Amino acid sequence: MTALSDHPATLYEPLEHGKVRCTACARYCVIPSGSHGFCFVRKNVGGRLVLLTYGIASAVQVDPVEKKPLSHFHPGSRVLSIGTVGCNWRCQYCQNADISQEREITGRALSPQTAVRWAKRYGCQGVTFTYNEPTIFAEYALDVMREARAAGLFANFVTNGYMTPEAVAAIGPHLDAVSVDFKGSGEAGFLRKYVTAKGPEPIFATAAGLRTRGVHVEITDLIVPDVGDSETATRTLARRIVEDLGPETPFHLLRFHPDYKMMDLPETPISTLERLHGVAKGEGLDYVYLGNVWGHPLEHTYCPKCGALAVERYGFTIASWNLDAKNRCRRCGHTIPILGSLPQDYRPAFATPIA
Ligand code: SF4
Repeated sequence: MTALSDHPATLYEPLEHGKVRCTACARYCVIPSGSHGFCFVRKNVGGRLVLLTYGIASAVQVDPVEKKPLSHFHPGSRVLSIGTVGCNWRCQYCQNADISQEREITGRALSPQTAVRWAKRYGCQGVTFTYNEPTIFAEYALDVMREARAAGLFANFVTNGYMTPEAVAAIGPHLDAVSVDFKGSGEAGFLRKYVTAKGPEPIFATAAGLRTRGVHVEITDLIVPDVGDSETATRTLARRIVEDLGPETPFHLLRFHPDYKMMDLPETPISTLERLHGVAKGEGLDYVYLGNVWGHPLEHTYCPKCGALAVERYGFTIASWNLDAKNRCRRCGHTIPILGSLPQDYRPAFATPIA
C-alpha cells in the first residue's frame, strides 16, 4: 500500500551535489540522491527528503496506557497505538523485529484523520506511537498529533530518545507524555555493541528537552542478563535521572525475554531486578517500578513519605487506588505526582489489535 507514501519530510537540510542531511535522529544521515537513510524509510528523491511510511501503519492496537509503560499519566486510560516499519536502531533483542527491521514499506493506509476517528470509536483517550521508533516518521506522527489534540485526545511517544534538538523542538509542543527507553542503562559499550548507537548523550538531551517543554517523562531500562545488568550502569543512570529530570521521575526496570538475535540468554532473574531496584532507590528516585513481572509487589506505587500502598497494580491493570481526589496519600496526605486520576467508571483495558 503506497497511496499516502512519498510524503515530503521537513526534518532535513539540503547539502551540495543533491545530497541532504536528515535532522530527525541523532545519526544525522547524509543521504545522496536516490538513497535511503539508515532507517530505510527516509529517502532522498532528487535532492528532497521524503518519508516513505507516511500514512502507512504496520500495527494498530488499543492498549492500556500502563503498557507503554506510563504509570503516572492518566491511569486507566486507553490509547490507540500506532507503529510503522523501520527503525534507527538495530537492537539485537528487539521484540518487534518483524516490523522494526522490515525494509519493504508494508502496512495499511491510515490517514491522520482516520487514526483519530478510530481512537474515538474504540473509546481511547489518546494516541501513542510505539512498536518501532516514531522519530523516523516524525512528520506523520506530527499530523496525527495535531488531529488528536484538536479532537481532545492526548499524544504519547514510546521512544529510544535518539532524537536531534531539531526533532525535539518540532515534536515537543505536540506531545503530552513520553516513555524514553534506555537500553543497557545507556552504557556506551552496550549501546555500540547491541543497538548500534554511539552513546547516550542524545537520549539524555531528548528527555531533558522534552521535560523543559512541559512533556511528562517516564524512563525505562530493559535489563538484559549477563550483558546489561551492571549495578554501576544502573547507578549512573539513576543518578543522571535525578540530576536532569528530578527524583519524582518514574523509572521502570523491565524484565528481558529472549527474542530476535538474543535467544540464547535466559529471562532476567527476579533477584537481579530487585537488586537494581534497590540501587536506583538508593540514588534518590522516589518511584522505581519493575515491569514484565506480573504480580510482583514492586509493580505498585508506594508513598515515598509514609510507605503506604498508594496504587496497586497487576500487570497493566490497576487493582486498587488509595489516593484522594487530589492524588494525595490517604494515610499521610503526601501528593503523589500522577497526571490525571483513575476514572470513576474504570474498567481494565486489554491489548486489542484492530489492524
Ligand atoms: S531518521 Fe535517523 S536513521 Fe533515519 S534517515 Fe534520519 S538520521 Fe538517518
